[in-house]
Amino acid sequence: MEHPENSEEYKGLTVNKGIEQPSIVNPYLKHRKKVRRRQFSVGEFVEGIVKGDVTVLSQAVTLVESVKPEHQAVAQEVIEKCLPYSGKSMRIGISGVPGAGKSTSIDVFGLHVLEKGGKLAVLAIDPSSERSKGSILGDKTRMEKLSVHPKSFIRPSPSAGSLGGVARKTRETIILCEAAGFDKIFVETVGVGQSETAVHSMVDFFLLIQLAGTGDELQGIKRGIMEMADGIVINKADGSNIEKAKLAASHFRNALHLFPAPDSGWSPKVLTYSGFYGIGIKEIWDMIYEYFDFVKANGYFDYRRNEQAKYWMYESINEHLRDSFYNNERIAAMLPVKEREVLNGQLTSFVAAKKLLDAYFEMMK
Ligand code: GDP
Repeated sequence: MEHPENSEEYKGLTVNKGIEQPSIVNPYLKHRKKVRRRQFSVGEFVEGIVKGDVTVLSQAVTLVESVKPEHQAVAQEVIEKCLPYSGKSMRIGISGVPGAGKSTSIDVFGLHVLEKGGKLAVLAIDPSSERSKGSILGDKTRMEKLSVHPKSFIRPSPSAGSLGGVARKTRETIILCEAAGFDKIFVETVGVGQSETAVHSMVDFFLLIQLAGTGDELQGIKRGIMEMADGIVINKADGSNIEKAKLAASHFRNALHLFPAPDSGWSPKVLTYSGFYGIGIKEIWDMIYEYFDFVKANGYFDYRRNEQAKYWMYESINEHLRDSFYNNERIAAMLPVKEREVLNGQLTSFVAAKKLLDAYFEMMK
């Protein structure tokens, strides 16, 4: 006998008589108030993070990024308690101009290293996010494979505040990620200058992604950025571009010879690869591992981390002093007045600054 569902009349959605269908809308739903998620206590945060709970980690990072003083207070306590569990990762900065292939490359670099085990966090410092109010870097959608990998954690750039503030938050996020067991951390940034310095101040290895251009590729790149690089990699070495990429690599090698030897004693390497086709990825990782072995053996690894810790102490002091000054209500009221007096020629800039600072320090007594 033919199955009734194969007959032409069967529409697939017939409701048998006598059976009452449940209401689609839950009648109680509308009465339910929107429940705010309870914020974890410091202890719960730390416990969750150390267990590697990514949901707890995400919420902690949100607190780190928050400008609310009550959030900051909890965040700072959580960071302090996570510190003993941190410090054990490979921190790698990755920089390149838009279109250089950062997201494509991070996707393949990340998958490659995760095949060997471990966990990878991708963070970002995006100096433009302050203006655009939205961050492009570290966006999950740009790293297709990595974003769905169970051992990865991708977080876009914090968007509020000055570059210094954004960088501090990223540095604090590194600590939380390390406490959560992430043993590789990528910090991505756009190759425009200042943000590189910020990234350089928080990573062990700085990788610069470049493209082969028309032969004058060295012109557009700032000397300071090249000097920071521990490795320069020329992307898109595929198809008809291979020879150009090799040529660019030799230009970079020659240029690097002209720089003074870096403090690390390591000679920065220049490699070509293709992120899109996955060519030359192993060689890049070999270089990174070789670097870590080298600087751990000669003591530079610890030296650099100590220098960075010192740098961040002073950066924190500067940031807090600045915030305390500018957020002071009386100072905020005086600022436009003094500004006008300077513009009118009634006061010099220096006298105006001194009056404001004197007033501030008087209030702090
Ligand atoms: P980002 O702006 O630095 O993050 O760059 P993307 O990763 O978004 O890459 C920019 C463009 O370059 C995209 O269209 C990529 O498909 C392309 N691209 C990235 N890597 C390669 C590569 O190795 N070879 C080629 N031919 N194209 C690539």
